Amino acid sequence: MPTIRAVHAFHCGLFRAPGLLFTRGGGLATEFVPVLCFGLEADEGWVLVDGGFGSAGVSGLGRVRSFAFGRLGRLAFRPSWGAAARLRALRGEKPLLAAVVTHLDIDHAGGLREAAPPRVFLSAEEWEEAKAPAWLEARVGRYQPLDYLDLPMRPVDTTAREARDISPLFAAADLFGDGSVRLVLLAGHSAGHAGVLVRLADGSRVLLCGDAAFSADVVTGAAQPGLFPRAVAYDRTRMFETLERLRSFARLHPDVPVVPSHDPLVGARAADGPAVIARAKAPGAPAAAPGPQPPAPSPAPGPLPLPLARSPIAPPPVPAAAPAPATTGSGRLATPSDEAPEPT
Ligand SMILES: [Zn+2]
Repeated sequence: MPTIRAVHAFHCGLFRAPGLLFTRGGGLATEFVPVLCFGLEADEGWVLVDGGFGSAGVSGLGRVRSFAFGRLGRLAFRPSWGAAARLRALRGEKPLLAAVVTHLDIDHAGGLREAAPPRVFLSAEEWEEAKAPAWLEARVGRYQPLDYLDLPMRPVDTTAREARDISPLFAAADLFGDGSVRLVLLAGHSAGHAGVLVRLADGSRVLLCGDAAFSADVVTGAAQPGLFPRAVAYDRTRMFETLERLRSFARLHPDVPVVPSHDPLVGARAADGPAVIARAKAPGAPAAAPGPQPPAPSPAPGPLPLPLARSPIAPPPVPAAAPAPATTGSGRLATPSDEAPEPT
């Protein structure tokens, strides 16, 4: 339990910011940077990975955070994009088994309460840090305790000896005891930041790496973290150590897509609604051909070829009168700010 058939990605809002904010060497052209959540579709029900924003978006978060997200980040948001609404549309009447959070930043925990999971897994390190909210509020204000303090939180020790079972590169905990969902400590962005390693029913795997990298080209090493990830890192040295291990993992396991929570190309893929980024092959289906897979045309459903090269994914839809989206020198999708949906 659970037998996972597919991994769905959906966004709970789109930041519009210059590329250089997220990627060193990125340009001044505006990028859509999604706030992604993931739904793990299993025979027994669904598992939510990260809570994105709730239906209120960033309103009610206080002046500083509202300014940072709503004004500086120029967040485009609609109540129907809230994590709970998105997930409910996906899962229908199937039960929500649990939520797993990579960390408790407000763009990853804001929708947890509305989703009402029966339990919320997170790393013990993250929980130790976040449950002292008064100190945190005073220091950085990155957490919003009302998002999580009275939820059924299940902090997990990712450093126990018996949990070191996926790779010498990582400490991890097996959340359901069957290897289907593992919490992988990827600390640095926050005190106990973690990734989620998903094993689907056919044995294929996906690593949802949260904010350990902000885009797939940072995972591959083609790009470096920009101003924002460096500025908000809880421990910058540890953030870069984690990134190096993540890159080693990607090299050692090229068959395992590594998917960041703010990847612009996955966001573009999910611009019109949830997108399937991995699906287990049906029993008896032929094995995939070895070697790199060709890019899938968007928005066709099916596995998304990752790590992603920038370019073949369609940009978010634009009004008919708007000029065609441009591509920056780095190959990132660039879209003028007036092409984004109106924030609420
Ligand atoms: Zn984030």
